[in-house]
Amino acid sequence: MSSIVVVRNLKKRYGQIEALKGVSFTVNRGEIFGILGPNGAGKTTTIRCITTLAKPDEGEIWIDGISAISQPRLVREKIGYVAQEVALDKILTGRELLSLQASLYHLPSATAKERINQLIQLLELQEYADRQTGSYSGGMKKRLDLAAGLLHKPQILILDEPSVGLDIESRKIIWNFLLSLRQDGTTIILTSHYLEEIDALADRLVIIDQGKVIAEGSPSELKERIGGERVTVRIREFTPVEEAIRAKEGLSQLPFVKEIIINAQGGNSLNLIVAPESDVLATIEKTLTEMNLPLFSISQSRPSLDDVYLAATGKTLLEADIEGMNKRDWQAEKKQAMKAG
Ligand code: ATP
Repeated sequence: MSSIVVVRNLKKRYGQIEALKGVSFTVNRGEIFGILGPNGAGKTTTIRCITTLAKPDEGEIWIDGISAISQPRLVREKIGYVAQEVALDKILTGRELLSLQASLYHLPSATAKERINQLIQLLELQEYADRQTGSYSGGMKKRLDLAAGLLHKPQILILDEPSVGLDIESRKIIWNFLLSLRQDGTTIILTSHYLEEIDALADRLVIIDQGKVIAEGSPSELKERIGGERVTVRIREFTPVEEAIRAKEGLSQLPFVKEIIINAQGGNSLNLIVAPESDVLATIEKTLTEMNLPLFSISQSRPSLDDVYLAATGKTLLEADIEGMNKRDWQAEKKQAMKAG
């Protein structure tokens, strides 16, 4: 399979913050490629470098054989970009905004009109297209933004957190739309910190954590690499941490247990990765009883992408998300954004 995007050893600093510490991956032609990671992991920075909106300090980016660093204009013709924040002129209608955007791409007016009608249909915006965008919901805005990114029929569509903050209905429309775009041969790159989104859409993905790629593969490959099943144990509904630690020590002795993480965000529940053997649940229950520990609930499931992340970093994505939010230097980001206009 041929690759359409090649990213090699990207590095980018913002003052003291090393946002990217050597990110590399390749995207195959015609696939949906996911970039998964918690808040502040470096997803947006990676995407901004690929879309030529930011320049990396080091590294290479090749888009269909063209360097995004030395030939940004040529690269921009090949890509459509849908940013995380949607900023629309509230007075214009959706259709007017798309016409304006089409003129920026220098599309002939007949072609533009036809393309706009087609996109309005595809994104189920018929009812709203002639209303001022100031009255749009988040989902409608996002769909309009998606239409704007697709006007020039780009080979590659790049989306930053496409369904963040959206209602289920809009999310479903966008997911189905992305799947149909792929069917028509468009390559799609999307960032997300929603496991479900990447699991539902991505053919392959990278997981980025603290500016580094920590895993690359298809969702099923990555889950299989865990080499076991997941058991979630709750000692109590909200377990005191000392009790969770004691349970962890006891359960670690069991031969089928490969790894145990205490999930602080989940009320100190225990996430175990276990070898797929019989009687696992009964043995865990018996061990806890022998240690005089109660058992509120226990369940077994196939590993998720969260387990992949957990195995690589020792944290759940949710924990890392909260940590990432706390670590961010919002002042510096705001200043930088204002400088960039
Ligand atoms: P999110 O989805 O929350 O935006 P992310 O994975 O996209 O997270 P980035 O936005 O790429 O992460 O941020 C990576 C790191 O770089 C963070 O520590 C962030 O605070 C920092 N950073 C990003 N942009 C700037 C900026 N303009 N100025 C200063 N620091 C920045």
